[in-house]
Parts: sequence; structure tokens; C-alpha cells
Amino acid sequence: MIHPDAALALIEALEPAVATETAPLPEALGRVLARSLESPVDQPPFDKSAMDGFAHGLPPGASGEFRVVATIAAGGLHSRPLGDGECARIMTGAPLPPGAVSVQRVEWTEESGPGLVRFAKPEKVDNVIRRGENVRSGDVIMAPRRLRAQDLGILAAAGYAELPVARRPVVGVISTGDELRSAGEALAPGAIYDSNGPQLVAMALAAGARASFHGRHPDSESALERAAANALEECDLLVLSGGVSMGDYDYVPAVLARLGVERIFHGVLMKPGKPTWFGRKGARFVLGMPGNPVSTFVNFEFFGKPLLARLQGVRYEPPVLTLRLAGDLSRKNADRVEWFPARREGSGVRVLPYSGSSMLQALENADCMVRLEIDEKFREAGSEIDARLL
Ligand code: AMP
Ligand code: MG
Repeated sequence: MIHPDAALALIEALEPAVATETAPLPEALGRVLARSLESPVDQPPFDKSAMDGFAHGLPPGASGEFRVVATIAAGGLHSRPLGDGECARIMTGAPLPPGAVSVQRVEWTEESGPGLVRFAKPEKVDNVIRRGENVRSGDVIMAPRRLRAQDLGILAAAGYAELPVARRPVVGVISTGDELRSAGEALAPGAIYDSNGPQLVAMALAAGARASFHGRHPDSESALERAAANALEECDLLVLSGGVSMGDYDYVPAVLARLGVERIFHGVLMKPGKPTWFGRKGARFVLGMPGNPVSTFVNFEFFGKPLLARLQGVRYEPPVLTLRLAGDLSRKNADRVEWFPARREGSGVRVLPYSGSSMLQALENADCMVRLEIDEKFREAGSEIDARLL
């Protein structure tokens, strides 16, 4: 049995080869940028006005009357230098004309005659954004990361039309268990619907992978071996749910061994998720998860996401907030790290009613999970606890 943090460290230490490809920028949301990118241009590319107002040749704080000699729109240009006592009406984002050093905002001016404007209130700042003030040409503007909307904005501002990205890992999901039925099928006595299949496919998609379901299979060694062998042909990561525990029909570890998948760990001091199995066959990885649906959820959150990030050349950094615990959190048995579904409440966090890893419904209202450490039976209301946001 391995501590979950040590198991995670084994995943974080992996250095799988990452294939890269080019994606049109608008399609790169959620993809992982494959290398650092620089800005090929100064931003802004010219001195520009931060205000609608009047550009003039004096430092901020000027007063008096000025002659309006031009109007400059954003995207416009005025090339004749401003003379003494002259100003140019200028719009936000328009380039400063030669000879201008600051801008008087329009709100603090008055028309004082035909073609004349009086500065009514002194400016304290120049209201100019200088060329390269935000970004200089050649600056690194983005390191490898999973791209968010704002990242695409930053890269678009530098003029990128397409981006080098990591190939999306291919994830295959297999559900095991004689008791499983698919939606639309009648539930015979003793049967339940397969929730892990759809949930794990969705989790892999949400984590940026290409994911597909490779079926649910009965607890039969031969059926499992065939299904896993086929899935392994095409997947970077195969995720199996069920059949990794100590039950009479838990064939997954034996089947994986027979398929030549080398075990990296089997058994984690974590609740839920104790029988979790992780291994690799060359460049392909396999996560075998215990079948209870909260187990597969926690497993994918704690091991799957970091693994998919490594397969794309980056590290997963889970969003974590340290919050005050609303209500005592206690348990009888403290031989494992244990995760509890929880919900943020004001500036604190409340652990939700939860009867164990078969109670998937507890996740409906959960927006985070908290954990107790090994040997920790009790965490007092009001103490701080790390909430891992979902
Ligand atoms: P196992 O890990 O195969 O021993 O399964 C543990 C528990 O999870 C059993 O109650 C199973 O019925 C349940 N379970 C296994 N696979 C699934 C699944 N795909 N969807 C929902 N529950 C499952
Ligand atoms: Mg089973």
C-alpha cells in the first residue's frame, strides 16, 4: 500500500513523450500550449491615448485655451506635428500625433469658441499608454499551460492565428461488472445502471482528452482481456472501473498482468480508492479503479487529471482554497487519507451528508472535497482545511 501523495508523485515524475500539432487559435480552448511563445510586436504598437479627449504638447496639468487642429480616430493617423497652443481631438486607442505628450480627457474640457477648447480641470497623469508599455516585442507572453479564454485573448493580441499544442491524449473507458446495465435497458434483479462509464468519459473530455467508451463487460477474464487488449491498441490511457478489489470476480489486475501491463502501484492508502491499480505498457497507461462511483470520481480527480496533464507535457495544479471548517469533521477509522464531499459556504466550507463511496448523489451539491490525513480522526469546527475545488 502506498500513500496517495507518494502515488501521485510517481505520476508527476513521469516524462512521457508529448506529440505536438498545430491548432487554429479559436479551436485551442482547453488544449495545452506546447512551448513558450513570445510576442512578435510591441503592445501597444504605438503611443496611444487612454481617453477620449485632446492630445497636446504640454505635460499633464496644463490649463488654458487650445486650438483644435485635427480629429484622430482609433485606427487613424495624424502626421503633422502639433504646434504651440494646438491640440488634436483624440479618441481612446488612437495614436498620439507627433509633438503630443499628454491627453486632456474630454469630460474636463469646455468648448470656448469655434475650434477652441479650454482645459477646465488639471490632469494628474498623461493618459497615454506608451508603445511597448504592456508587452515588449520578444517578451515571453505564455508558457506551456492549458489554455483558457483569456490566454487565447493574450495570444490573439500578439497576432497568433494558430498555436503549437500537445496532441490530445486518447482515453478509453471500460466498465466491468456482471451487474451493470446501460441506460434504456431494464434493471433485472440485482442489476444497476453503469454510471462510471459515462462519468469517466465526461471527466476525461473535461480534462482535455479525446475520450470514448469501450463498453461494459462482464466479470469474465476472457471478455475483459479481449476488451482491454483492443482498447490498449488505440489509447494513451485506459481507465477501467470495477474488478480491482479482493472479490472472487475481480479479474482486472490478473488480466492486465497477462497483457504485459507493468504495475506501478496497486493499493493506495486512500478512501475512497484503496484498491486502485496503476501501470504502463510502454507509452500507454492504465488506471484500474474500484467501481464505487465516488471512488472513480475521486480517483480520476486525484490521479487521472494529473496523468492527463503529464501526457500533454504540463502539471495539473488543482485549485485549492484554505477555508474554515463549518462543523466538526470526525471519523472512527483513520488508517487512510479520506476524502469528503463538501460545499463552500460564505468564507468557510461545510462537509456534506455522505454515507460512503456508493453515494454518488452526494456530489450533486458538492463544489469541493476536503481530506483528513492518516491518523487524523477529528478536525474541529473553525479550523482551517484545504478545499480542493471541483
Ligand atoms: P467493484 O469495484 O467491481 O467491486 O465494485 C464496487 C461497487 O461499485 C459495486 O457495488 C458495484 O456494483 C459498483 N459499480 C461497479 N461498477 C460500476 C459502474 N460502472 N457504475 C456504477 N456502479 C458500479
Ligand atoms: Mg465488480
